[in-house]
Amino acid sequence: MADATDTLTLPVLPLSNGVVLPQMVVTLALESPEAIAAGDAAVADQLLLVPRRPDGSYARVGAVAKIENRSKLPGGVGAIVVRATARARVGAGVVGETDALWVEAELIEDGEPTARAEELARDLRATVRVLVEPAGGSRIADSLRGVTDPGALADLAGWWPEISFAQKTQLLETVDVEERVALVLEWVKEALAEREVTNKIRHEVSEGMEKTQREFLLRQQLAAIRKELGEEDDGEELVAEYREKLAALNARSAIDEATSNAIDREIGRLERTPAQNMEHGWIRSWLDTVFEVPWGEHSTDDLDVTNARRVLDEDHTGLEEVKDRIVEFLAVRKLRAERFERDGSGTSPTEEGPAEGAARNQRKTGAIIALVGPPGVGKTSLGESIARALGRSFVRVALGGVRDESEIRGHRRTYVGAQSGRIVRAMQEAGTMNPVFLLDEIDKVGSDWRGDPSSALLEVLDPAQNHSFRDHYLEVDLDLSDVLFIATANVLDTIPGPLLDRMEVVTLDGYTEAEKVAIARDHLLARQIRSNGLRDDEVVVSDDALAEIVNGYTREAGVRSLERAIGKVLRKAATKVAGGEATPITVDRDAITEYLGRRRFHDEVAARVAVPGVATGLAVTGAGGDVLFVETTVMDGDAGLTITGQLGDVMKESAQIALSYVRSRAEELGIDGSSFDRKLHVHFPAGAIPKDGPSAGVTMTTALVSLLTGRPVRREVGMTGEVTLQGRVLPIGGVKQKVLAAHRAGLTEVILPKRNEPDIDDVPESVRDEMTFHFAEDVIQVLDWALEPKAVATAA
Ligand code: ADP
Repeated sequence: MADATDTLTLPVLPLSNGVVLPQMVVTLALESPEAIAAGDAAVADQLLLVPRRPDGSYARVGAVAKIENRSKLPGGVGAIVVRATARARVGAGVVGETDALWVEAELIEDGEPTARAEELARDLRATVRVLVEPAGGSRIADSLRGVTDPGALADLAGWWPEISFAQKTQLLETVDVEERVALVLEWVKEALAEREVTNKIRHEVSEGMEKTQREFLLRQQLAAIRKELGEEDDGEELVAEYREKLAALNARSAIDEATSNAIDREIGRLERTPAQNMEHGWIRSWLDTVFEVPWGEHSTDDLDVTNARRVLDEDHTGLEEVKDRIVEFLAVRKLRAERFERDGSGTSPTEEGPAEGAARNQRKTGAIIALVGPPGVGKTSLGESIARALGRSFVRVALGGVRDESEIRGHRRTYVGAQSGRIVRAMQEAGTMNPVFLLDEIDKVGSDWRGDPSSALLEVLDPAQNHSFRDHYLEVDLDLSDVLFIATANVLDTIPGPLLDRMEVVTLDGYTEAEKVAIARDHLLARQIRSNGLRDDEVVVSDDALAEIVNGYTREAGVRSLERAIGKVLRKAATKVAGGEATPITVDRDAITEYLGRRRFHDEVAARVAVPGVATGLAVTGAGGDVLFVETTVMDGDAGLTITGQLGDVMKESAQIALSYVRSRAEELGIDGSSFDRKLHVHFPAGAIPKDGPSAGVTMTTALVSLLTGRPVRREVGMTGEVTLQGRVLPIGGVKQKVLAAHRAGLTEVILPKRNEPDIDDVPESVRDEMTFHFAEDVIQVLDWALEPKAVATAA
């Protein structure tokens, strides 16, 4: 190949229609005098093909070409087949012997491709593939793969019918390889973008085609094209629309002046920002967010206390005390609202004086209700009932698993992809400024939050602050003071203290068997019948059958699994009905095994405590009360105590205390002192659940004594209580939940600390009647009640 400085003298063949690039082989008709002259003049069949622009000027670069064949086209016009070999810069004209225009042509070689050129070439190949693929052009893409040289690859664009003469000329003139590849890449990308727009327009048009006539179609096309161009007309309309909305809000004094000004400012910005600008979109989203807030919308409260009670009764069986508390709470709110209501005679919010501000605080002060209890006891549905009772809309925000303050309070607007927080979104969903707002699982907030999100919640719940809640995104005050907040939680201990201070805690401890049957009969059954497509009169489920489901197939404080099990029964019943079986289908106790399979829960306790060293404790977990076994064993090895089962420090200490106590009283308890020279192990099964607290003290002591004396623990007994080194039994919490759990597990005797005796009143009577309670002051009493007599043990 020629050296970069090689200069040739060649006749010029001007090209006014097509452009020939290196590597191309084309047939040219020799029509014009110049062309014919150039064809004739070509020495050694070489000539220079130079594009000539419509204004007559020549391109600065041409292609050196070799004539491979000469022929005549039909009609007698001469034609040549030329192969272009290289670029050449068009130099000075030379006077030649023929009519043709001769010039000096300085050969230009592409040279070794740079890394950047290679990279651009890869990009180009990939983009072309995307462009040609839908048209079934994978052959094109494949043939590109054969061209490895970046410069040559770019030159292939000479074949591309989509680009213009001017573009092809530009391509020829772009001598630098990197630039050349970049140029073609840009064109391909433009083509791709253009195709997307076309597709989008076509798509938008065809979506609404169904019942259209031609005119409608055209209008849609026009609108889509306008939209794509971001035409000014549209922008003006948009701004006018926003202005209208703002005026409407102002007209009914739904927003204060600051908010109104802020919105106005943004509309102004929108007006000045071209639609192509990214900001335009951001401003629009902000405006849309603001206008979706239900400014000034209030539902009228139906604050009739008897009605509220009626609604609560309708939706929920039992829960008398909880309903009483809720109704009281609503009554107090009502009174407050009436007593401290500002006289409504034309005082606008902006003219509020200090006295009125105080009155407002007075009126709004009032703790929020926190419904605390295990899952499935109806906390959420009580919230909904309260909303129904008051005639307010209901929204729920799940706080469990929320990780970031910005989820509550939104992102700042400078943040890419900024969004308002959940409070704002919930208010938009509510559609009124005074909904019942359920903050679900507020106890799951503190645990894994980053930043300080509880401060955002505090602000939401604080009556002194929440009339001007500020979302980071919205940046205007949002008045939450008319919202009725209700929180729910499984446990109290993980609720951050300052939040807890604002709450009036109402506990729901779980249901007894009888209550569950009643709930199932009154509510769950009917709902499941409907959701399984059955009619009320097609299935009859007896109370006995419900009780069997409760006892044999569920073990929970609430009624979630119960509802699921009922659903399963009804699905099978529905299959029968669909199969043409005679209705009503009756489901009684005996039929349950057929529907649900074998009982899932048997007398677990009896099996566990059959050997000495295992005792049944009672505990409260996030899922409500539960029975919890303590297992102990002794083995050869160094003296000492091993404790396992994911226990907290308090629980480990209480295991040490239990051992020290047993050791110090060994003789009195009839234990061989040498046992303590061996290795003792205390284990709490269900190792995956972290446990802590002192209330397993009596259980551990009992298990150890049982192990070391060989007296098994009585299978019908469950126990709870803290133990001191002297063996005194101290009171514990969660009596009701623990007793209910014992009842569920089929225990009939419960040992509790003496000082917890008054708490027994909280336990529903039906359960109390079926159980025996022992109240212990000293561990010796516990052991008396809990352990089988020695004689029986050896006899057994
Ligand atoms: P939680 O919020 O406490 O986890 P849910 O409110 O989700 O519980 O209650 C689970 C289901 O049980 C709901 O469908 C609810 O209506 C029903 N339920 C719970 N308690 C009662 C009750 N006392 N009376 C009627 N239905 C109840």
